Amino acid sequence: MIQKIKINKVIIGRFKKGDDVITKLEDILKKEKIQMGFISIIGAVEEATIGYYNQKKKEYIKKHIKSPMEILSMKGNISLKEGNIFIHLHGIFGKRNFKTTGGHIFSPTRIFAGEFIIMGLKGKVLERKYDLETGLYLW
Ligand code: ZN
Repeated sequence: MIQKIKINKVIIGRFKKGDDVITKLEDILKKEKIQMGFISIIGAVEEATIGYYNQKKKEYIKKHIKSPMEILSMKGNISLKEGNIFIHLHGIFGKRNFKTTGGHIFSPTRIFAGEFIIMGLKGKVLERKYDLETGLYLW
C-alpha cells in the first residue's frame, strides 16, 4: 500500500532538558495541527524506556534504562489511531561503553539535549487499524 503525498510543513527545533519525548512531540503536533508525517531526532537522553515486540505472545517486553545515553538515531512517523494522534517512534542509543541498544520508544524517555525535525505531510491521513495477524495497529 503506497500513497503519493506532498509536504505540508517542516518544523525544526530542540527539546528542553527533562522533556519526555512522546509527550512533548504530542504537544507540538497538536499545536501545529500535524496528523501525518515523519520525525527525526538526535541528541542525548537521561533515561529511556524501550520495547521489543514478542511476536509469539503479541505483546511488548519493556525495558527502562535509567542512565545517560546518546540518541544515535530516533525516527518515527505520525498518523491516527482511534481518532487520536499516534507517534510511532524507534530509537538507537549509544551507551558509555560504546555499545548500542534500542527499540520501540515508550514513556518515560527523557531528553538531556535533543534536536528534532518534523515533516508534516498533506493528503488523506493514515489511520491505524488493529491487525489480527500481528496483534498490532497497522496502516
Ligand atoms: Zn514500534
